[in-house]
Amino acid sequence: MPEEVKKILENLKAFPKKALGQNFLINKTKINKISEELLKYDTDEIIEIGPGLGAITEKIAHSKKRITCIEKDGKLYDYLVNKFIDSPDLHVIKKDILNTSLKKIRTKKKAIVFGNLPYNIASQIVIKFVDEFYMEKVAGIFMFQKEVAERILSAPKSKAYNAFTLKIQSFFEIKKILSLNEADFWPPPKIKSTLVMLRPKTKNKKIYENYTEFNAFLSLSFSSKRKTLINNLQKNFPREKILLALKKISKNENIRAEELDNEDFFEIFYYLKNQK
Ligand code: SAM
Repeated sequence: MPEEVKKILENLKAFPKKALGQNFLINKTKINKISEELLKYDTDEIIEIGPGLGAITEKIAHSKKRITCIEKDGKLYDYLVNKFIDSPDLHVIKKDILNTSLKKIRTKKKAIVFGNLPYNIASQIVIKFVDEFYMEKVAGIFMFQKEVAERILSAPKSKAYNAFTLKIQSFFEIKKILSLNEADFWPPPKIKSTLVMLRPKTKNKKIYENYTEFNAFLSLSFSSKRKTLINNLQKNFPREKILLALKKISKNENIRAEELDNEDFFEIFYYLKNQK
């Protein structure tokens, strides 16, 4: 299968671009597994970020779901438009995902966003996804560098657990779907990958109105890893109020941010907000 990819690129007079994280999926078993996961989720619409040469796209093109693909590379865009010319439900857009509103692209209530993401901007993309859809019934399936996936999947008290983890876990249930090796791609990247699913949680409605503030609160809570939660938060909140908030959730004053789960953070956040 690397031969197929090489041949297509040769015909396009193109080379895999490192700056665009172009590592194309070539493992057929894993391509099938990813496509099955994508199709079995109950949605009317799929938005694909970075379709590349369409390894996954071609498996979902005839699903009768509305499909929109966003590709930055002009040559790949031309190739995809031509490849899917006979798929009326599939649209390809030539854009940089970082400057594109996913919300504006999405047309159906139940949608899923998929991406075998360029590794250098994968964290930025998932935060963008959460920022745009934290209130909605939109799910995501994304491929990350293994270490980034571990952070997203991590639990309190583990080394990888931080504000980034909580920004995602506060609004989405996270599940690991698949591990991928270097040889599953061409050219092979120097890293291993993990496919992760994000399912919208039944959300705490109050948090919607305070989303930006809640995110800033999470960042402040983790601002210095060596400090206790109180010492981090007291830059913005009175110490005695933080102590009362901790007491309310039965935690002591030496607790660190990485020991708390997202429900604890919701509670502390609202307590401090209402006391202001
Ligand atoms: N989905 C294909 C696959 O699995 O074989 C390709 C995945 S490759 C890891 C990442 C893809 O994202 C490439 O096609 C690349 O051109 C595209 N890409 C990179 N940066 C992008 C951006 N900012 N906006 C949209 N697409 C981008």
